[in-house]
Amino acid sequence: MSSKGKLITLEGIDGSGKSTVAGRLASNPEFSDFVFTREPTGSWIGEAVDRAIHSDTDHLAELMLFAADHAEHISKLIRPSLDSGRHVISDRYSASRYAYQGMTLADRFDDPLDWVRNLHRDWTIEPDLTILFDVDPGTAVARCGSRGDKTKFEKIGFLEGVRANYLRLAKENPDSFVIIDAGKSIDETEAELIDIIHSFLKR
Ligand code: ADP
Repeated sequence: MSSKGKLITLEGIDGSGKSTVAGRLASNPEFSDFVFTREPTGSWIGEAVDRAIHSDTDHLAELMLFAADHAEHISKLIRPSLDSGRHVISDRYSASRYAYQGMTLADRFDDPLDWVRNLHRDWTIEPDLTILFDVDPGTAVARCGSRGDKTKFEKIGFLEGVRANYLRLAKENPDSFVIIDAGKSIDETEAELIDIIHSFLKR
């Protein structure tokens, strides 16, 4: 019997509230054994990703940086943590690339989401559970309004496309995706997230 940990990923458009709720979980003693992480990571490759998303970098070059950061994240943190039996919660993971670069690369490929997904095939670790924080882009952008470090992605039209990509992924992977209505209050969203994690780990 395997004693591997489970990989749970939090996804959603900018301003959907993932980071706020992940931060609350990370300081909740009930989750003290979990590994909390995020993409882009804090590694030098993650810093390169940050530079790309705050500049006018070529979209394919940007994707490759994201993919490199993902590879480093998996080998240095995700795989060793899961192998040691710890559960991992990642604020953004591979589905962020499928959803976001599925938009930024729309002019280069017929089905950019699928192209980006194929790029990850055979080396990524698939999440056991992906929780999609689904919210209307207007609400999300309004929430981000006061945020200092805005990225080029925080525009309603763009985020509508990203949201559609996320919903497509959820539809194509009904066994591993759960959708949260993230238009609700932070407290309600957090309570729903905790319920989902509890029932998943009991399965
Ligand atoms: P994400 O990580 O999904 O981009 P954040 O957690 O950083 O989103 O949230 C973006 C902003 O919205 C923050 O200022 C946060 O306080 C606020 N926020 C997050 N969740 C909610 C919510 N459910 N209701 C209202 N505001 C929220």
